[in-house]
Amino acid sequence: MKELTCIVCPRGCRLVVDEENDYATAGNACPRGAEYAHAELTAPTRVLTSTVAVTGGIHPRCPVKTAAAIPKGLLPAAMRRIRAVCLAAPVQEGQVVIPDLLGTGVDLVACRDLPRAD
Ligand code: SF4
Repeated sequence: MKELTCIVCPRGCRLVVDEENDYATAGNACPRGAEYAHAELTAPTRVLTSTVAVTGGIHPRCPVKTAAAIPKGLLPAAMRRIRAVCLAAPVQEGQVVIPDLLGTGVDLVACRDLPRAD
């Protein structure tokens, strides 16, 4: 048995999952909890949020996130890749910063507009 907290919605149900019984889940108030438990214990994923450097903008860094969840095991490599990025202002919200991050098929995108400083 494994205990998890469902992070799909703010209710935060405490889940008890039987890994040896096809991931049978108890404690979930809705079906999404069972889906989350199965995914978390077989192929966990996360949306990655971070910032990248920007030159010539009103701020030195721009917030970014993956457009969808990526495998949790790729997060350290994704952060190394993100740390190497430096954008030139202006940046547009939704702009693709890194296409197909680490071959996941998921783009890293800018989370805000960042105009030039002049
Ligand atoms: S099981 Fe359903 S209600 Fe409970 S935290 Fe997860 S999504 Fe929310």
